[in-house]
Amino acid sequence: FNDELQRSEKLEVISELAASVTHEVRNPLQVTRGFMQLLSENSKDKDREYFNLALKELDRASGIITDFLTFAKPEMEHETRLNVGDELKHVRGILQPLANLSGGTIELELTQDLFMIGNSSKLKQAMINIVKNSIEALDGEGLVRIWAYARNGEIIIHIKDNGIGMDDEDLARLGEAYFSKKSKGTGLGLMVTFRIIEAMQGSINFYSKKGSGTEVVICFPSIMSTKSE
Ligand code: ADP
Ligand code: MG
Repeated sequence: FNDELQRSEKLEVISELAASVTHEVRNPLQVTRGFMQLLSENSKDKDREYFNLALKELDRASGIITDFLTFAKPEMEHETRLNVGDELKHVRGILQPLANLSGGTIELELTQDLFMIGNSSKLKQAMINIVKNSIEALDGEGLVRIWAYARNGEIIIHIKDNGIGMDDEDLARLGEAYFSKKSKGTGLGLMVTFRIIEAMQGSINFYSKKGSGTEVVICFPSIMSTKSE
C-alpha cells in the first residue's frame, strides 16, 4: 500500500512537471519546424531526405504532447461538477476543423443535462484522444457520431465512427503503450485515456468490426442535476 502511495505521488509530481513545460516546449517546436521546412525546400535531394527525417521526428514530439498534454494544467488535481454536454461541445469545437480537413463530419446529439464529478482538462484530453482516433479512422468522407444520456445513475457516452474498424487482435492491444498502426502515431493516446477514465471511476469499452467502423462506450457515475454549486 505504501509503495502504491509513493508511486502515485511520484506520478503526480511528474504530471505537474510535464504540464508546466508543455506550453513552453510546443512553441519552439513549431518555430523549428517552420525553419526546417523552409530550408528543406531550397536543398538538394540528399539533404532534403535528412530534413524530412528531422521533420518527422519533430512531428512525433508534437504528437506526444497532443496525446498526453493538450489540456494539462500545472495546478493540483481539481475536481468539480462538470456539465458533460459542455465538455463534449468543446471537444467537438476543437476537432471539427481536423475532421473537415479530410471531408469528415462530427455530429453531437445531447437530449438532457448531464452532470458528473471530475477534472475538466483530463476529461477533455480523454475525449479528444478517442474522437481524434475516430476521425483518423475515417477514409476521407465519413461520420463520427457522439451522443450521451443518463441511465441507472450513470452517464453513458457513445462515440461511433464508420471508419476502417479493427480486428480482434487490434482490439486486444488497445491501451498498450506504443501500440499504433499509424505512420505518425504515438501509441500513447489510449493508454492515457484509459488511465484518466479509470481515475474518474469510469469504464470504457470498444466494439469494432474491420471495414465497418468502431463504437466506443464510456460510463461514468452521474450526480444529480441540481442548479446549485
Ligand atoms: P495512435 O492514435 O497514436 O496510433 P492510440 O493509442 O490513440 O495511438 O490508438 C492505438 C491504435 O488503436 C491506433 O493506431 C489504431 O490502430 C487503433 N484505433 C484506435 N481507435 C480506433 C478507431 N476508432 N478506429 C480504428 N482503429 C482505431
Ligand atoms: Mg490516437
